Amino acid sequence: MSSAANLLDFDLEGLARFCEGLGEKRFRATQLFRWIHQKGATSFGDMTDLAKSLRDKLPTAATITGLPVISQHISADGTIKWLFDVGQGDAVEAVFIPEDDRGTLCVSSQAGCAVGCRFCSTGHQGFSRNLTTGEILAQLWFAEHFLRKHLNRSERVITNVVMMGMGEPLQNYNALVPALKVMLDDHGYGLSRRRVTVSTSGVVPTMDRLSQDCPVALAVSLHAPLDALRDNLVPLNRKYPIDELMDACNRYLQHAPRDFITFEYCMLDGVNDQPEHAQALIDLVKRHQTGGVWCKFNLIPFNPFPASGLLRSPQARVQAFAKQLLDAGIVTTVRKTRGDDIDAACGQLAGDVKDRTRVGERIAQQRTITLHPTKGSPA
Ligand code: SAH
Ligand code: SF4
Repeated sequence: MSSAANLLDFDLEGLARFCEGLGEKRFRATQLFRWIHQKGATSFGDMTDLAKSLRDKLPTAATITGLPVISQHISADGTIKWLFDVGQGDAVEAVFIPEDDRGTLCVSSQAGCAVGCRFCSTGHQGFSRNLTTGEILAQLWFAEHFLRKHLNRSERVITNVVMMGMGEPLQNYNALVPALKVMLDDHGYGLSRRRVTVSTSGVVPTMDRLSQDCPVALAVSLHAPLDALRDNLVPLNRKYPIDELMDACNRYLQHAPRDFITFEYCMLDGVNDQPEHAQALIDLVKRHQTGGVWCKFNLIPFNPFPASGLLRSPQARVQAFAKQLLDAGIVTTVRKTRGDDIDAACGQLAGDVKDRTRVGERIAQQRTITLHPTKGSPA
C-alpha cells in the first residue's frame, strides 16, 4: 500500500489529475473531494454515489490518512487543543477557539521552526521538517468533523483558519498553497479569503508570491519598530529589514482580500513596550502610509516560558501602549489570551513528543480526553 496516494494531499485540481491517471473522468474528483472534506468520509465504500468503476479502483490506489491524535485538551473556556503525531518523535498542535460569532482553528505548518524568534517556544525547539499538504489539512479535516460530532452540529463549525500554530508558513510554501486552496474551495471547506489568515515573520519574496497565487488575509509578526531590536527578536529581519517588509505589505494590499494588514506585536516587559517604541511604530506606520487605514495592530500579551528569559509586560503598560497608538489614529486591539490553562496560547505550542512525560503531566492536571493513537479518523 506504500505507493497509494493520500487524497488529503490534493487540492481539487490535483485530485482531478489523479482521477484522470486512474482512467476516470475529471469531474468525478468533485464528488470524491466533497466526500472527503465536506462529509469527513474515511472509507471509499461509504461513497455511495461515486461511479462503481472509481470506487473499485480507489482502495488499492489511494488512502485518506489523517494524523494520529496523541492527546486532546479541553479548556474551561471551550478552547480545544490537539496534539498530532507526525512521526519520528515530532508532534504538531492545532487549537480550536470558539467565540460567539465564529469558530477559529489555529493550524501548524511545520514541525518546529527555523526562524528562531527569541520569544517563541517553537523557535527555541529548532526546525525538524515541513509538513505536507495532507498533514496541514489533516488538522482541519479532523477538527471540523470531530467538532460537528462533539457539538452535535450538522453544518460548518470552523469558520476561520489562522496559520498561527507551529512553524513559518511562508517557509513551507509549496505545501501551504494547495492546503489554502482546499480551505477556500466551495467543494472543500468553502471559507472566504478574508477568513483564512496566513501569519508570517516576514518572508518578503514569498509574500509577493502569495499575493499572486492565493491572496488570503495576511498577518505580519512585527514585534519591533526598529531594525536593531527586530534583528534581535526576529532573526529573519537581518535578511528582510523593516522598510522592505513594509513595502512588501503595501504591494500585498494591491491583491489582498482585506484592505489592511494585521501587525502582531508581542509585548515584552522592558524590551519593546516603552513609550518610545510606540512612538517609533507610529512614525513607521505614517512613513509607509499609502492612504486610509492600511494596517491594524494586535498587541499580544507575551506567554512566558522559562528558556526565553523574557517576561510579560504588565497589563497597565499594554493598555498605555495601545492608547498611544489609538490616539495617533492607529486601529489597535489587545488580544485576549485563550486556553491559558491548557498551554494553548500563542507561542506555547511546543508539540515535542520526545518529552512525553511533560505532556503526561499536563494530561493529569487538565480536564482531558486522551484518545488512543489511531488513524486520526474523526469518526
Ligand atoms: N511563524 C508565523 C506564525 C506562527 S507564530 C509568525 O511568526 O507569524 C503565531 C504568532 O504567535 C506570531 O505573531 C508570533 O509572534 C506569536 N508568538 C510566538 N511566541 C509567542 C509567545 N511566547 N507569546 C505570545 N505570542 C507569541
Ligand atoms: Fe517561527 Fe513564528 Fe515562532 Fe518566529 S514566532 S520562531 S517565525 S513560529
